[in-house]
Amino acid sequence: MKKIISDFLSEIDKRNSHEPEFMQAVREVTDDLIPYIVSQDIYHGKNILMRMCEPERVIMFRVNWVDDNGEIRVNRGYRVEMNSAIGPYKGGLRFHPSVNLSILKFLAFEQVFKNSLTTLPMGGGKGGADFDPKNKSDGEVMRFCQSFMTELFRHIGPNKDIPAGDIGVGGREIGYLFGQYKRLKNEFTGVLTGKGISWGGSLIRPEATGYGTVYFAEDMLNYEGKSTKGKSVAISGSGNVAQYAAEKCIHLGAKVITMSDSSGTLFDKDGINENKLSHIMYLKNEKRSRIHEYLKKFPSAEFFENKNPWNLKCDIALPCATQNELSYKDSKMLIKNGCFCVAEGANMPCQPGAVKEFKLNKILYAPGKASNAGGVAVSGLEMAQNSLKYSWTRDEVDQKLKEIMINIHKSCLEYGKQKNYIDYNKGANISAFIKVADAMLAQGVV
Ligand code: NDP
Repeated sequence: MKKIISDFLSEIDKRNSHEPEFMQAVREVTDDLIPYIVSQDIYHGKNILMRMCEPERVIMFRVNWVDDNGEIRVNRGYRVEMNSAIGPYKGGLRFHPSVNLSILKFLAFEQVFKNSLTTLPMGGGKGGADFDPKNKSDGEVMRFCQSFMTELFRHIGPNKDIPAGDIGVGGREIGYLFGQYKRLKNEFTGVLTGKGISWGGSLIRPEATGYGTVYFAEDMLNYEGKSTKGKSVAISGSGNVAQYAAEKCIHLGAKVITMSDSSGTLFDKDGINENKLSHIMYLKNEKRSRIHEYLKKFPSAEFFENKNPWNLKCDIALPCATQNELSYKDSKMLIKNGCFCVAEGANMPCQPGAVKEFKLNKILYAPGKASNAGGVAVSGLEMAQNSLKYSWTRDEVDQKLKEIMINIHKSCLEYGKQKNYIDYNKGANISAFIKVADAMLAQGVV
């Protein structure tokens, strides 16, 4: 088996050796999937995993725009359309200076598995640009979004490819992107998700990824006869996912002790309550400033510059910032300090060595493709409401989100149950693969 896996990886590596994040995401599924594929006659001779590792289409384009000083700026835009076996391409757009093809291919690859787990009819894609919205005026962000969409609009559509937000793309950016699409196409359709409520958005969409991550952690804990109530929770990030993960933890009676951003970690030993969280939302969403400004209002808290939260004592860790933010060393520290549950709100935040360590120590560990799937699931519900021209209530959407997370948990159990441990990663990988692979087999070699 080892040889089959290493032959497969060296074949993938030949084509993608300069794409470390993408290779990491592929490696992360092969140990689970190749033995499963070998054990199932229907997949023999179909080269199915190799086909899943190659994007159906990659679009790269120039994005020119004019800044407030009249200078012409040049960025690079992308859309990776990875797999459309079970539905139109679906996945977010990321605006961050680190964006490159490797990162977007890893995100699009993960998205295929994640979308399959939701059971909704969505294929996988991801896109974005190496544009940094930080320290830009609203006018600059608008002009960038308009220029970006002026190329992207030819490749997307409500039955073709439906982008959403990700790092650096929130409600403001989705608004500008949607406005430009509408102007170019002269039609009002559900081509993007994460829209404002008054113009086709779904209730609970902003909350969905963070809430879903906490629902999934709660499902894992409940299965072991435990719960989040009364537990201390370390959260990284203070963006969309982190904010609503914190809110749901507070609602469920847990104590949130940390949040962070790219400048460092905020530690509040008394717990971040609803009032304190709304101040963080103001600082990050409206003032667009650094999280350490929290200390001006709540001076008993501490700030650790350029540090992540993982060396602080907690029961539950929710990495909600970015990929590879939690190292092997961090995982050792978390385990040493008594952490017993890790659920990924971000995509691939735990490095491979950390994941191995969690499994070895039988820590409850949920990979992002399972635990953060609530965001895209509610995007799927937004698409359904757009085509029905109807809106569900907040409670209805929240209820559907909870049910979807429970079903993802069940799918993980189906293929991930071991003697005295549940390998959620393996469960998620196999369960997601089957649906996509079977659709690809049915559709022939295309
Ligand atoms: P946001 O842009 O809203 O927030 C990102 C947060 O992470 C910010 O606090 C940011 O800090 C911090 N951050 C970014 N890069 C780094 C870094 N290199 N080191 C430390 N902190 C960093 O993004 P989202 O909350 O939407 O996304 C967070 C993660 O969740 C990403 O991995 C994304 O792919 C994933 N995700 C998002 C979904 C969604 O619905 N939005 C759905 C599923 C997954 P600062 O403010 O200083 O930049």
